[in-house]
Amino acid sequence: MFNLILFGPPGSGKGTQSEKLIAKYGLKHLSTGDLLRYEINLQTPLGKEAQSFMDKGQLVPDEVVIGMISSALDANPNAKGFLFDGFPRTSAQANALDQLLELKKAPIVVMLALDVSEEELIKRLLKRGETSGRSDDNNENVIRARIVEYKNKTAMVADYYRKFDKVVMVKGEGTVNEIFDRLSEEIDKRA
Ligand code: ADP
Repeated sequence: MFNLILFGPPGSGKGTQSEKLIAKYGLKHLSTGDLLRYEINLQTPLGKEAQSFMDKGQLVPDEVVIGMISSALDANPNAKGFLFDGFPRTSAQANALDQLLELKKAPIVVMLALDVSEEELIKRLLKRGETSGRSDDNNENVIRARIVEYKNKTAMVADYYRKFDKVVMVKGEGTVNEIFDRLSEEIDKRA
């Protein structure tokens, strides 16, 4: 099983690159952002709870997202591998993921971390907000709050995987295809 984490701040291109990577490598895409938005669209209790955090640019509580990922892993017993996008976003989530993957004897092979300047992130997110219909993208204060959450709670998740020598920084600026080629090259080295 080939399990990888695509890591990076909001707006770094994780969603765009994930779509291309799962097509090329036959991985199952697990995006906590997408799973949460699905629940919000259905207006489930979980979705309603999540929305109150997302609208403020805050992270959704760990137990909510860990539960979602655990169910998604169980629902895909025959996956060739998983691409985690937007998860883990806290140290607690990283610990929980390691435990879940331990049960499957299929650890994270690599964390590919997209590196993008803050100025570029804000520009991309505001542009996405014009068309995505995502309410968390068309308000600059919410975008800044998400970047603060990233710095305070998420950036350190890379340190956790660095201890196991699993982090590779990848330049996240350039064309979509240039970035895709850089990511593919790192996966090919390890697949
Ligand atoms: P982006 O990477 O652009 O922030 P996402 O779709 O990954 O977009 O996430 C959107 C929002 O969903 C986040 O701001 C956060 O509120 C919530 N969210 C997504 N994944 C997680 C997670 N693993 N833990 C907590 N909250 C999450």
